[in-house]
Amino acid sequence: MHNKPKIIVFSGIDGSGKSTQLNLLYNELLTNYRVFISKIEYMPLNEMNKNLIKNLLIEFKSGIEILKQAMTLHTNDNKFDYILCDRYLMCYLAYAYMYGIEPIELIRKMLFFIKNPDLTLYFDIDVNLALNRIKERNSGINKHENYESLIKAKIGYEKLYKSFGNLEIIDANRSMDEINNSVKDTLIKRKLITHF
Ligand code: ADP
Repeated sequence: MHNKPKIIVFSGIDGSGKSTQLNLLYNELLTNYRVFISKIEYMPLNEMNKNLIKNLLIEFKSGIEILKQAMTLHTNDNKFDYILCDRYLMCYLAYAYMYGIEPIELIRKMLFFIKNPDLTLYFDIDVNLALNRIKERNSGINKHENYESLIKAKIGYEKLYKSFGNLEIIDANRSMDEINNSVKDTLIKRKLITHF
């Protein structure tokens, strides 16, 4: 392959299985392709409060995270066949909604330098099931990982995902293997790969 890398985004609330599915696909692609993983780190949106200056700094910091990912994607053009993204702009916006930040304004500010992914996988999961998986996870629970916050993040995703192209909704309430098969079928269906 010598074209631009295909960008595949893994999105969904915490505990929906993004990282798990990204790693499964990564290992499968790695036998035949050059694959790069790009992760947007957790954004400090939960530190936002009524202090305007602090909020601006946090928005700036979050903007930098997104910009850093966008730059990584630009610099890795031609070096890789696939770039798998753990979170992307849309995920940031869904979580911004959870913290009461107006996403439309942010979209307007940020969209111009963001590449359009070739595929955005949205892992749709029941919030209680996601919370159970988070509780069993080795890395512990973050401050925002509670029912109320995750419901808001889910609503944030549902409000936003229609405005992002190349979206596939994956039922993430199933077993890891079933989800992995759906992910691979989707890549084939969308002609992002011919076979595994
Ligand atoms: P995310 O990256 O979306 O936060 P993870 O991939 O880290 O989610 O998954 C959260 C936890 O749930 C992990 O401990 C993982 O092993 C487990 N898990 C992921 N997918 C499944 C699944 N389909 N069934 C059961 N447990 C799962």
